[in-house]
Amino acid sequence: MRTRCYHRRVIIDFHTHIFPQEVRENREEYLKRDRTFAEMYANPKAKITTAEELLQSMDEHGVDVSVALGFAWREHELCVRHNDYLLEAAAKSKGRIVAFCTVNMAADEAAGEIVRCAKLGAKGLGELRPESQAWDLNGEPGARLGALAKEHQFVLLFHVTEIGGHEYAGKNGLQLGAFYRFAMEHPDLAIVGAHFAGGLPFAMPEAPQVSLTAFADTAARRFLYPETVYQDAVSRWGTERILLGSDFPLVSQKAQIEEVRANVSGEREQRLVLGENAARLLRLDTDA
Ligand SMILES: [Zn+2]
Repeated sequence: MRTRCYHRRVIIDFHTHIFPQEVRENREEYLKRDRTFAEMYANPKAKITTAEELLQSMDEHGVDVSVALGFAWREHELCVRHNDYLLEAAAKSKGRIVAFCTVNMAADEAAGEIVRCAKLGAKGLGELRPESQAWDLNGEPGARLGALAKEHQFVLLFHVTEIGGHEYAGKNGLQLGAFYRFAMEHPDLAIVGAHFAGGLPFAMPEAPQVSLTAFADTAARRFLYPETVYQDAVSRWGTERILLGSDFPLVSQKAQIEEVRANVSGEREQRLVLGENAARLLRLDTDA
């Protein structure tokens, strides 16, 4: 990874979704089994993609590395099965897919699963949706999560919901205020707020800038905010804390890369957002 990342422009998509083939083939069963999954995938147009399709997209559009995120299943067993798939896909990909596993912190087995995922090569947890799984990020489960993330040097990626705004499938998952509190209480953790951190850089422009260390990804921007949010986010957080994220397959990787290029000015700034920030966060430059 060392040469791949720092001797030429690296493109890292920090927010993609892949599922085991089994979920795609038995979609109806999973729709009945998990309310959040049903909210997002009951619409037959909502695509479910596999690791092979992600790798094909990466080849086509020059993406070096993708972070493949798990799904916040309510049932621990479903989290484990999905984690197995992500870990296997990452292991087979020779560094091109980075696995972020998912757990339900309300489950007794969650801590053990985090340890297992770390041993098998996961680099983080996500896309975390504490409210969909009914556990309190600002309470005891969140404190446990923070301690485990620190111990295993895990990046935590949260789905964050903006205040107000329009409704969309899968909107609820973590309120902006809860995310903000957790991030402020854990400045030593690597924390990513998906979807421009629920609008945090522009929703609370005066409050968080001083001591907040969280990152924001650009996932699904086109369905959530006007394009001007790039400028707002960069002016308040700088380019060092913004990460390219597509939400593949919801948005094509090509379209998301082009969007970043069109809205972030400066060659160095673009390089940071398109991959170098992510390489740093994932410690790809120091890993063998
Ligand atoms: Zn999300």
